[in-house]
Amino acid sequence: MPVPQSAPGKASASYDVVVVGAGFAGMYMLHRLRGLGMTARVYEQGSGVGGTWYWNRYPGARCDIESMQYSYSFSDELQQEWDWSERYAPQPEILKYANHVADRFNLRSDIQFDTRVERAQFDEESHRWKIVTSDGDTVTAQYVVLATGCLSNARMPEIKGLDRFKGKVYHTGHWPHEAVDFTGQRVAVIGTGSSGIQSVPVIAEQASHLTVFQRTANFSIPARNAALSEEERQWFRAKYADIRYFAREVSRNGIYTEIPDRGALDDRDNERRARYEARWSSGGLTFMSVYNDLALDKAANDTAATFVREKIAEIVKDPATAKLLQPNSHPIGTKRICVDTDYFAAFNRPNVTLVDIKSNPIEEITAQAVRAGGKDYEVDALVLATGFDAMTGSVAKIDISGRDGLTLNQKWAEGPKTYLGLMSAGFPNLFIVTGPGSPSVLSNVIVSIEQHVDWIADCLSHMRAQGCEAMEASKDAEDKWVAHVNELAYATLYPQANSWYMGANVPGKPRIFMPYIGGVGPYRKICDEVAAKGYEGFAMTGAEQPRKLAASS
Ligand code: NAP
Repeated sequence: MPVPQSAPGKASASYDVVVVGAGFAGMYMLHRLRGLGMTARVYEQGSGVGGTWYWNRYPGARCDIESMQYSYSFSDELQQEWDWSERYAPQPEILKYANHVADRFNLRSDIQFDTRVERAQFDEESHRWKIVTSDGDTVTAQYVVLATGCLSNARMPEIKGLDRFKGKVYHTGHWPHEAVDFTGQRVAVIGTGSSGIQSVPVIAEQASHLTVFQRTANFSIPARNAALSEEERQWFRAKYADIRYFAREVSRNGIYTEIPDRGALDDRDNERRARYEARWSSGGLTFMSVYNDLALDKAANDTAATFVREKIAEIVKDPATAKLLQPNSHPIGTKRICVDTDYFAAFNRPNVTLVDIKSNPIEEITAQAVRAGGKDYEVDALVLATGFDAMTGSVAKIDISGRDGLTLNQKWAEGPKTYLGLMSAGFPNLFIVTGPGSPSVLSNVIVSIEQHVDWIADCLSHMRAQGCEAMEASKDAEDKWVAHVNELAYATLYPQANSWYMGANVPGKPRIFMPYIGGVGPYRKICDEVAAKGYEGFAMTGAEQPRKLAASS
């Protein structure tokens, strides 16, 4: 297929579409736009493609979804030819894959690296967006697609004295490109979410001493990572059509796994234990799919939580440390469950210490120590595994103004509001890939990315065919969708946790459950039905009837 290339863009250029971000979402969006013959410019603040896998280079970083599934499905040639080396790919390999995709589909010529989009302003007369970038250029585009990622805005914790620390400070979500060697150093890791849990065992191998500062103990399941054999790869490749269909259309989380047919309390104790044992032995996120009510029923959830707590006590030799590592503050799975390699066992090492900062919070960081509970823990390097301003953080960094000069930050001051997680009323022709209100982070995100990108591309194609030049979510449809997202979330145990799903990890951020919990299969059906009904809940406006859109919102 001939690929139309946009003119190499510079100041005052004009495009059909500006895409923000060259991670997995931005790259596939560009590919689809080219297929439609549209001109596009992708702006990426990093110096390379890969998004989250470009930034998160911390020791031990690897995907918690199996590589054969955490990969694009849009090109059968691509999925047949790429060799994943391990069950869970390490970060360098995923980044290599992202680069391979960029080269294979010749994407780089339309991506401008080292460039942030600072501002985007909708012009109501021309129905076009004016985009200002960090290098001072202003370009215009009919559409803007935010492919900014859900977990790409690394958050520095507000800890007194952090700026006075004399050693090196690293954030897992913004790791240096050059190798970091902790050999012989005293290292502190603050934070025990997925990033902390993955990095602790690897840093422990190098550091002379590692002190882990834990505020909330987390549930983690062994990854059981291993090299993939050619036979295993071939098994997947032969079944890819079925696997991808299942992930997209049938599953709730975009992962090919059995669908549980019963609740946890439907089994007797010994049967239940056997099922949990089997999943613990096979490893990975699908531990939460043993039963169909673990996210819904506290008594059911307690059976899984108790099982994992018992496992922690079996692994960790010191009973006091084991007790601290046993999560008790939230139902299992209501904070993103972690997948680890030897995390709990790392605390059996003589060079690893756990410090409970729930009961003895960090008071301050001095020039050479972390001070907690009146004690100084002297360290040479600090690793902040403190997470992200998730789902909205990267969007909020861009100054986006829509109709009547209203900014997206003003509109979302009490929490993000979208229709289908794809558009926000008052911001015509602005699409969000895996935005709040869509399954996004509750799914194998590449499945959700491909679904959104395909939906957006089909929508743009439809608009072109109909001669429409602007599209916008109606406020009514948006209000109903936001209510639906909330209603589903509050029927589950998820809101019981102080999680980043709820915005609870960022002081002052509104507490609202951001992702759509109804499952990727059902969600896809809703999106497809909306499109089949002529984009129900969206107003489309042709060049000759610009007022209709304003009246509808
Ligand atoms: P996170 O889950 O938000 O964990 C941050 C940790 O830092 C928590 O333990 C938190 O404690 C602690 N923390 C935050 N601020 C603190 C402060 N001021 N003082 C002390 N402790 C503080 O972040 P993450 O581990 O980077 O993971 C975020 C998400 O990214 C994951 O849930 C996952 O979706 C994704 N991720 C995926 C992978 C993978 O695929 N393998 C790897 C890494 C990350 P509290 O819990 O008490 O707030």
